[in-house]
Amino acid sequence: MTLALYASDPSNSKGRLFYESVASSRNDYQRDRDRIIHSASFRRLQYKTQVFVNHEGDMFRSRLTHSLEVSQISRGIARTLGCHEDLVEAIALAHDLGHTPFGHAGQDALNKCMKDFGGFEHNLQSLRVVDFLEKKYGAFDGLNLTFEVREGILKHCSKKNASKLGQVGDRFIKGGQPSLEAQIVNFADEIAYIHHDIDDGLRSGILDFKLLGEIESFRETSKQVKEKFTSLTSEQLTNEVLRRMMSNIISDLCDHSISNLKDYDPKSAEDIRSLPLIINFSMHMEKIFAELKNFSRLHLYKHPRVQTMGEQASNIIHSLFYFFKHNYEKLPISFRINNDCAQERNIADYIAGMTDRFAHELINQYGL
Ligand code: MG
Repeated sequence: MTLALYASDPSNSKGRLFYESVASSRNDYQRDRDRIIHSASFRRLQYKTQVFVNHEGDMFRSRLTHSLEVSQISRGIARTLGCHEDLVEAIALAHDLGHTPFGHAGQDALNKCMKDFGGFEHNLQSLRVVDFLEKKYGAFDGLNLTFEVREGILKHCSKKNASKLGQVGDRFIKGGQPSLEAQIVNFADEIAYIHHDIDDGLRSGILDFKLLGEIESFRETSKQVKEKFTSLTSEQLTNEVLRRMMSNIISDLCDHSISNLKDYDPKSAEDIRSLPLIINFSMHMEKIFAELKNFSRLHLYKHPRVQTMGEQASNIIHSLFYFFKHNYEKLPISFRINNDCAQERNIADYIAGMTDRFAHELINQYGL
């Protein structure tokens, strides 16, 4: 791997919370990636909802397959730009570790329950998982990841919460950008979900080709595909159109970001932090991307079927939260022994870590 001057280099890492010597066979970002893959929270992503709940069908994306797609897209962009591939991979695989069961509806519900106790932010929770909640090592809690991976995981953060996080929260208070690798994963996350959610939307029957024709880029791309291939199955047509759209978006992101790099000419990874956002779409692609997002919000995320799943999810999270609040002794001992924070935070940690089906199981077990 040839690293550009502006890429993050593990030998210049800002380090780990607890000192560890460098491994002889793996760089620090590879090591972080491996720690994430071997964590329990990573395995649980398999049974957490992306948009469609797990029991709706086996072909839909889960948080795990979403994270793998984000990782794949991030690696491709990082390679093109000369950034550190292992770092983007580690950030991508960890970026959703703090997600609750049942997707965004689950997160919103838990945030409401936690309103008077500091709220719930899934980015912050992902950091909490890798810094504290994973119990794999004798020497420390959490996975003790490098600053660069932790910084990449913390995509958004309120100033209030950032002020409690030390160095990794600084940029939300003082301003400034994260590493290029973190910027890459942010965009790869959006590129991945917007395309795979449309794909899953078609699979579920909520979306169809006629409706998608409202989107200019979809209409144009499907026209090109139909002109080139005359006898495609609908599955081939869908895949070919979405594949081309995604490829165009990624190419635009790479081209525009390379042009930004030429303009600003950063000489080190540290230079990136005081520059404007380097990874970005061209203005033309920004419009196309905004149209895709608007369409998905209107026709997919706000669709009555998805909304109904969301309402059911909210009820489950709400019931579980208040059940454990009123029956705190029922919370597993491993969550209760943390006396540093309010009982409600320990309950939120437990609920956020659940898979969809485990949450359902508890609802049945306690007759909620
Ligand atoms: Mg994501």
